[in-house]
Amino acid sequence: MHIVHLAAELAPLAKIGGLGDVVFGLSRETMRLGHQVTVIIPKYDLINTAEIQGLEKIETDLPCHFEGQNHLTAVWKGKVEGIDTIFIDPLHPRMFFSRGCIYGCDDDIDRFLYFCQASTEYIKSLASPPDILHLHDWQTAIVATLYKTQKFKASKIILTLHNLEHQGRCTPYEMEKVGLDIETYFTQNLLQDPLYPEAANLLKGGILYSDFISTVSPTYASEIKTVELGEGLDGLLTSKGKNFKGILNGIDFGYWNPETDPMLPAHFSAKEIATKGYLKKRLREKLNLAEVNRPVVASICRLVPQKGIDIIRHALNSSVEMGAQIVLLGSSPIPQIDAEFHTLRQQLRDHPHISINLKHEESLAHLIYAGSDMLIAPSRFEPCGLTQLIALRYGTVPIVRETGGLADTINDINDADKPENLMNGFTFKEPTIYAFDYALKRAIHLWYHHPDQWWKLKVNGMLQDFSWTHSAKDYIKVYQSLVDHSPL
Ligand code: ADP
Repeated sequence: MHIVHLAAELAPLAKIGGLGDVVFGLSRETMRLGHQVTVIIPKYDLINTAEIQGLEKIETDLPCHFEGQNHLTAVWKGKVEGIDTIFIDPLHPRMFFSRGCIYGCDDDIDRFLYFCQASTEYIKSLASPPDILHLHDWQTAIVATLYKTQKFKASKIILTLHNLEHQGRCTPYEMEKVGLDIETYFTQNLLQDPLYPEAANLLKGGILYSDFISTVSPTYASEIKTVELGEGLDGLLTSKGKNFKGILNGIDFGYWNPETDPMLPAHFSAKEIATKGYLKKRLREKLNLAEVNRPVVASICRLVPQKGIDIIRHALNSSVEMGAQIVLLGSSPIPQIDAEFHTLRQQLRDHPHISINLKHEESLAHLIYAGSDMLIAPSRFEPCGLTQLIALRYGTVPIVRETGGLADTINDINDADKPENLMNGFTFKEPTIYAFDYALKRAIHLWYHHPDQWWKLKVNGMLQDFSWTHSAKDYIKVYQSLVDHSPL
């Protein structure tokens, strides 16, 4: 099969969060299983073109009808870590992707609508249509609407929901920019938003018009069919029946590998885990933390309310009071939160046990995963979560809230229902500092007083297989059933 992904991110080239990792890991595993894969992303100016092999311009004047006018688009192709990648480069006066960022512009809706319109033109120009168009999140969801309403049925369409919080709500006039007339499409049954009737909803269109919808964990799939977490789309998702499924994300075991990771100064495995202690020392040196007999607790995430930032903020003090050190690596797209954490960083600047790093830095993330003892993920909700999976791979024990994919992947050490070799962390239910503190206290107590049990927990995590091996096969089953018109 030929599978074409359309996405806003592709790791490691253009990545903000898990979306980039997923497109990368799923593409590589699908290719390994013998399928042809192409990824289409915008040609952001922040992309380091040295990381693209054989970059060449293949089109200079692809037409793109936008806001009632014809514009031209350049198209580039190259390979990213072996993945065939197409870069859409609008020759539009508003310089949509030359803003030094991936998201966060006032006109993000226009930027991604243009990207979708141009990508659709590009795909239609191919000699033979791909078997599968795989769309990701609101930024590319409109492609399903454009395809199906133009009666272009050559490819089957799957849309993956990585986070239902972001739906691409916009004014109905914005839909018109890609040729969807308001009278026809801005209705309750079509693209009108179910919660804010004055708005159009691009993700809703994607759910309506795609042949199959997936999300990134089975528990999140159940959660978003409820009013509490469905963000207004629970009814529509429920109505999809068997054509909506949760498939657990994996991580790329080639990229995230403590035995070979080129971003680490030394390597380790479940059998030879002692080097992890050396990496902890290097981490402390790098971040000016005291070299003392304390566990290191890590938090790596986008600093947004979803991630439980009230609990993360609290953890800065509570972990130190409980006898640990804590390292935070995060960045926030929300100015108020960003300012608040910058103030905290200033206040705690010379603290021997706390290190706050407010930036996005891939290599530091690798060293933190490798050199820490525990990783916290106290999310309010979490579609899948990759940080706990990467932590497991690097022998760092996760402490997580039982929600979404965190609940599907982390088994509490006291969970009597699970086999002993699947116990891999600490969990808590309520999103409160009390519930979190209790889980953290149990973890720190085990680290100090039962090193043999701690060792077992680390090794259990390292030996679990959360690679793409299983999940990519599940996606391929879905692709195949769509192509063959056979039931799943
Ligand atoms: P989300 O997609 O909601 O941001 P995930 O847990 O699915 O969360 O994926 C987060 C990914 O982004 C992981 O690969 C994590 O290591 C990475 N990440 C998050 N924040 C940073 C940061 N500040 N620097 C480097 N990597 C980060």
